[in-house]
Amino acid sequence: MEKIRAYCLTEDPRLGARVEEIRVRDYRRMPDSYFKLRLAAAALGIDDTSAAGRRALRHAVTHGNLRAHFTAEELAAAGIREASGEYPDKGKQPPDPRLAKSLAALNNDGNNREPTGDNHAFAQKLASFSNIEQALGYLRKRLPALKGMKLYEFLADIGYPAALPRSETQRLLFRLGLLKNGPDARARSRRLFFQTVERIARLSGAPMAEIDMFLGLYSGAWRSEHVDAVCALKPRCGWCAIRDHCIHLKYHEESNSPRETEPINTWGLDERPREKLLRGCELTNAELLAILIRTGTRRKTAVDLARDLLKKFETPTRLAAASPAELAAMPGIGAAKSATIIAALELGRRAWARETDERDTLPQTNSSKSIFEFYRARFQNETQELFILLMLNIKNRITRETEISRGTLNSSIVHPRDVFREALREAAGSVIFVHNHPSGDPTPSQDDRVLTRRLAEAGKILGIRVTDHVIVGAQRYYSFSDNGELE
Ligand code: SF4
Repeated sequence: MEKIRAYCLTEDPRLGARVEEIRVRDYRRMPDSYFKLRLAAAALGIDDTSAAGRRALRHAVTHGNLRAHFTAEELAAAGIREASGEYPDKGKQPPDPRLAKSLAALNNDGNNREPTGDNHAFAQKLASFSNIEQALGYLRKRLPALKGMKLYEFLADIGYPAALPRSETQRLLFRLGLLKNGPDARARSRRLFFQTVERIARLSGAPMAEIDMFLGLYSGAWRSEHVDAVCALKPRCGWCAIRDHCIHLKYHEESNSPRETEPINTWGLDERPREKLLRGCELTNAELLAILIRTGTRRKTAVDLARDLLKKFETPTRLAAASPAELAAMPGIGAAKSATIIAALELGRRAWARETDERDTLPQTNSSKSIFEFYRARFQNETQELFILLMLNIKNRITRETEISRGTLNSSIVHPRDVFREALREAAGSVIFVHNHPSGDPTPSQDDRVLTRRLAEAGKILGIRVTDHVIVGAQRYYSFSDNGELE
């Protein structure tokens, strides 16, 4: 409360005078005319803090059936002149029976008609109530012109220790966690509101009306030219003097906090991860992960979220081992993004596993002997001729094999187009051909020689060197390279 009061007084120092006025106000010492005027103003919904409001109030109490309830002394004490000169009696105001009845009740309550009587029965009756609920019950019966919020306005107007349970003030208290929500909140909220404001008043030693004014100014329930409401419908939490105590802010920190970094779509094209990937640039782990995450949150970009993930799981390997629930529990990730990350990492794992499996099913070196030893067992039971293409990378390491043909081998069946299509697709630097002779004799036939020459010439044109052609027999092999038949 101290911080709210300090904020409002800094914004508008003139409120200090208002506070003094509130503190010296004592409804038990108010004259009869004052209660009646406040009753008329509250019942008619007139705000007489402005000149126009005061005019409207004067007009109301000096005309029609209300005039009968005010003595000339009461009007004079309230600074209101008789209607005759200043206010033409239009005589057209419809009588307000409930207001007339309420004013009559006030007159009857008074056992001392002196304007300044401090033993006014009405004020004494109000003072006898230990809480506002009882006071409200009494007013409802005695003053039927007042209903709903008008009851509270009247009480606050006459200086009774009451705060107005306006929705803005209640919203502020709710955000601070002082009012609770729940199924029976509406029924309980007013009582809880009064209890809360009473507690604040007790702890801060300030009158209820003062608490009501400052909470109202802070929450926007009281309009002021000089004080901007901080905790209005759209709270300005960055300016808030009591943000440390706010429950609402804790739950909405994400949406109220400033962004840590600028959104990715405001970055330069050469900095955005997706554009970098498409241009073939090398990306960091966080950038690769950000491409999978796709979108950030209000506060963080996808790259920030990726960094958070890598900070938590330390390495991509540990990230790949994380469960979907662990990933989804990270702020800003959720189920959809965690599924994308897991799917991408699983694809990567499968691709890597396949590469490893393939490596185990290939000859370890490109020497003719090692190729013969590798394929001898495999061709052992083959009854047909198989023509296999081995593809090598620029480091002369065998990276892949593919079967080109099966059956009787001659130069018209194995076409260079089929052979080199695969090699080009693999971006191979060189190739080795392997085929078997089911007879067990590896001696090359005339067709084998013609085919080898054709393929070597085709490779030369395409820039893919034919390193060897190995014919695998039962116990022996024939290498075109070892025998000097290939350059
Ligand atoms: S931190 Fe924000 S929501 Fe909480 S009281 Fe202040 S302005 Fe209101």
